[in-house]
Amino acid sequence: MKTDWVIDEVDDFTRNEKNLTFDYKISDLSKRVSSSELFASLEDNIYGIIKGETDELMRPIIRLELEGDIKLICQVCLKPFSYHIDEKVDLIVFENDEDLTKALHDDNVDIEGIVGENNVLNLLDLIEDQVLLAMPFSPQHEHCENERLKEINKDRPNPFSILKN
Ligand SMILES: [Zn+2]
Repeated sequence: MKTDWVIDEVDDFTRNEKNLTFDYKISDLSKRVSSSELFASLEDNIYGIIKGETDELMRPIIRLELEGDIKLICQVCLKPFSYHIDEKVDLIVFENDEDLTKALHDDNVDIEGIVGENNVLNLLDLIEDQVLLAMPFSPQHEHCENERLKEINKDRPNPFSILKN
């Protein structure tokens, strides 16, 4: 069941290293994800855990670990195939866009951040963003039958070039 899944006290959640587990069907996610034509089934599950932590600078960190065995539609042969999603990301929570931009600019290390205004974070948004990031741009079988056929045909003489002679 889809709910508005929110952490309403980010500082408490991260300082006290709380965590939450989740398990959604793709059909539970909002249309911006579930309406993707790349999914072969909306019945597959996306599950994982969200952990609160703080870094060495005592900044609030949200660690998101997300997994799922889903079925996508191969963009070459248009048949479904199984795809494993396994994403882990640490996100520093900033008060506002300004702080986030500043930190991204100042920090020499690669950091990823999100904005949790008024100490509130929408976790469902976060999960949906990660699912979208985890999706291949153009999903296809690792060894697609159609690709192989194309390869085989490539070595055959082009019938039109024979005609020319
Ligand atoms: Zn294929």
